[in-house]
Amino acid sequence: METFKLMRAADVDDAIRSASDVNSVSTARPGAPIRFLAGGTTLLDLMKLDVEQPSQVIDINRIGLDRIETTAQGGVRLGALVRNSDLARDRYIEEHYAMLSQALLSGASAQLRNMATTGGNLLQRTRCVYFRDVASACNKRQPGSGCSAMEGMNRNLAILGTSEHCIATNPSDMNVALTALEATIHIQGVSGERAVAIDDFFLLPGTTPQHETSLQPGDLITYVSLPPPTRGRRSVYLKLRDRASYEFALASAAVSVSVVAGQIDFARIAMGGIGTRPWRMREAEAALLGRSADRGTFRAAAEVALAGARPQSENGFKIELAKRCLTHALSLATQSA
Ligand code: SF4
Repeated sequence: METFKLMRAADVDDAIRSASDVNSVSTARPGAPIRFLAGGTTLLDLMKLDVEQPSQVIDINRIGLDRIETTAQGGVRLGALVRNSDLARDRYIEEHYAMLSQALLSGASAQLRNMATTGGNLLQRTRCVYFRDVASACNKRQPGSGCSAMEGMNRNLAILGTSEHCIATNPSDMNVALTALEATIHIQGVSGERAVAIDDFFLLPGTTPQHETSLQPGDLITYVSLPPPTRGRRSVYLKLRDRASYEFALASAAVSVSVVAGQIDFARIAMGGIGTRPWRMREAEAALLGRSADRGTFRAAAEVALAGARPQSENGFKIELAKRCLTHALSLATQSA
């Protein structure tokens, strides 16, 4: 691990001021980034592996942003430092945003969920083994070095949104649920505050897989907001993986639907484990609307959802697995609806 300077921010402004302080930039390692430290469940691991080598780490655990609040419109505002376990077990979230609670509880372990935060989970890095091995070529970690996964171990990697430069999956369960819930990410930086729709927050790898989000250097995620829940919509998060706990998704589906007189009149779908970012399934949503809520309709939507999938040498099985995952999630969400 490289040496770094550690400071503790007193509030949001202090954190952002420190992140933009040119005097903090290491002269020994020019270009080394400054990182915010929340739960540390990703950052510290990657620092120990030398994947992350920040010149300065700013501890933001004492700046507030740790509350779950309902908004005047009936939605919720989630502080970036709300712990995953607190968010998953919040009564309002469990009742009105069930798939978010389910997604959080399906991820990691109880100990990790007690530390991990909403903002940190949004920035969770890929589990591609070559990204975490500094002896391997990896365009995401070292732009221009190549992609070891193309000809290597790619069983767990993406089949949607890939490029010839990177095929890594976004590993987060929470991000999939937030995508289906059409969350908005609130960001504060040196140039002020802005709100970004989650669809615009995550970037495709393209030719620059090192850029995973629309965050700029020094930007701090402050809140995530969710639109108001609507009566009659039921939501489910279904995760398929190699073992029942402490494992990342091979395929997952977050679905929110409502059924009126046997027909689907609302559908939101996002999938995980298969895309280079949490993958919103708009064509599949359209394929459901106005159709009868039965397994044939669900399977037809799943066919639409995976029509653009491009498998690698070891992960072709994910296409059928993802179709079954989505079909079953829709069945669960519409049971007795
Ligand atoms: Fe790196 Fe992406 Fe290739 Fe994995 S898939 S080795 S993260 S460039």
